[in-house]
Amino acid sequence: MSDADELMTARNLFQELFPICRSITGDGVRQTLRKISEIMPLNIKEYPSGTKVADWTIPPEWRVRDAYVADTTGRRLIDFQANNIHLISYSTNINAEMSFDELAPHLHTHPHHKNAIPYRTAYYQREWGFCLSEDDLALFDPTQRYRVVIDTDLFPGFLTLADTVLPGEEKSEYLISTYCCHPSLANDNLSGVILTALLYNRLAKRRNRYSYRFVICPETIGAITYLVKHPEEMKRVKGGFVVTCVAGPGPLSFKCSHKGNDDLDRATRMMFRDQGIPLMEYPFSIHGSDERQYSPRPLQIPIVSICRDKYYEYSQYHTSLDNLDFVSAENLLTSLEAHVAVIEMLENNHFPLSKGAYEPCLSAHNIQLPPGGMMHPDKNKSQQIDSNALLWTSFFADGQHDILSIAEETQLPFDQIVRAVNQLKSFNWLE
Ligand code: ZN
Repeated sequence: MSDADELMTARNLFQELFPICRSITGDGVRQTLRKISEIMPLNIKEYPSGTKVADWTIPPEWRVRDAYVADTTGRRLIDFQANNIHLISYSTNINAEMSFDELAPHLHTHPHHKNAIPYRTAYYQREWGFCLSEDDLALFDPTQRYRVVIDTDLFPGFLTLADTVLPGEEKSEYLISTYCCHPSLANDNLSGVILTALLYNRLAKRRNRYSYRFVICPETIGAITYLVKHPEEMKRVKGGFVVTCVAGPGPLSFKCSHKGNDDLDRATRMMFRDQGIPLMEYPFSIHGSDERQYSPRPLQIPIVSICRDKYYEYSQYHTSLDNLDFVSAENLLTSLEAHVAVIEMLENNHFPLSKGAYEPCLSAHNIQLPPGGMMHPDKNKSQQIDSNALLWTSFFADGQHDILSIAEETQLPFDQIVRAVNQLKSFNWLE
C-alpha cells in the first residue's frame, strides 16, 4: 500500500465504519470486523453468551432496531436513527407513554458541553436510557407526556472478536490490540481499529524478527475472553500496544507501561527524542483501556499506548463531538509512523558484544574519519556524528548495553548506533 493508498484507505474506513452502531456484542462488531478483514486477514472468533471467562460471564447479545422519544404529535425529540449514541448501550426494551417527570431520570446530558450528546453504557445493568444535548433537553415541555420506544433484544448470542498472527524469525511476540465496541465515535475508538489494519500491512511487507499478534476485540470483556481462551499463545507475548485515540488534532503523547522502563517505554521515548517531538508522557494508570487486562498477573505484559488526543484528555471524549470532523486520516498516519518507528527500534535493539579487545583501528578497516586535531570532536559538525557513534558503540559494546542504552547514554540517534553496529560487524569486531 503506498502512502496515498494508506490515506485513501483510512479516509474510506472512517466514512464506512463511523455510522455503524457497535457495542460489546452484536452485528455492529461483526460488520466492522468483516470490513477490516478486507484490509488484513482476520480469524473471526465467537464465544457464546453465558460462557464463564475467569470471574466474568459473556453477556447476552444486544440487538437494536429502533429507539426514540416522541411528543404527542409523533415528532421524534430523540432519535437513535439520527445518532446512535443517543441510546445507552445495552438499554432494555420499552414501549410506553409517560410524563416528563417519569422520563427525566432516564435522560443524560453532558456536564460541560451544552451542545454535545454524551456516550454512556449499561452493559451489566438492566436499565434503559437516552443521552442528549442540553440544547435538545430544552425542547422538552415538563407539562407534556411522551412516547418512549426502545426496540431492542437481549438474547443468547455471541461475543465476537478477531485475531491474526504475523510470524517473525523469533517465536516471541509483540501484541497489537485494539477495541471495537464504541458506536459512532471517531477518535475513541474507530481510529485505533483503522490504524491497526494499516499497521498490519506495514509489518506484513517486511521481514520481522519478532512475531506480531493482532487482536481486535470489544474492550474489557473481549480482552479477558481472549486471554482466557489463548493462555499458551499469550505466554509468548513480551509486550504490546493498545492502539487507541490516534487521529485527533492534538500532539503525539504516550502512556507508559506498568513497568515504566521496559524496552517498549524506552523505545517510545527514543522515538520522541530522535524525531524531535516534545515528549508528552502519561504515567501508567489503572484507568484506561485493555492494558488493565493484559498487564496484571499472571502474564504482566507491559503495554504502551501512543495517542493523539488520549482518552480523558480531550474535551470531546465520549461525546458526539468526537466525530469525523474531529479526526483526520492525515493525523492517523502520523500516529502510524510513530508506531512503526517504535517497532523498528524494538526490532533492531540488541546487546552488541565486542569480539576484539581495545578500540578498533577504524582507518585500518577503510572507515574514513574526519580530520582530527583542530577542535573537540564532540563540538564538530554533523559529519562527526557517525564517527562518534562508532567510537561510543565500540566503547559500550560489552554485552551489557543494548542499542537503546547506548543511544540513551550518548544522546546519539538510535539509527546511528544501529549503523555503527552494522559497520563494526562488517569487519567482525562486533558480534
Ligand atoms: Zn471509550
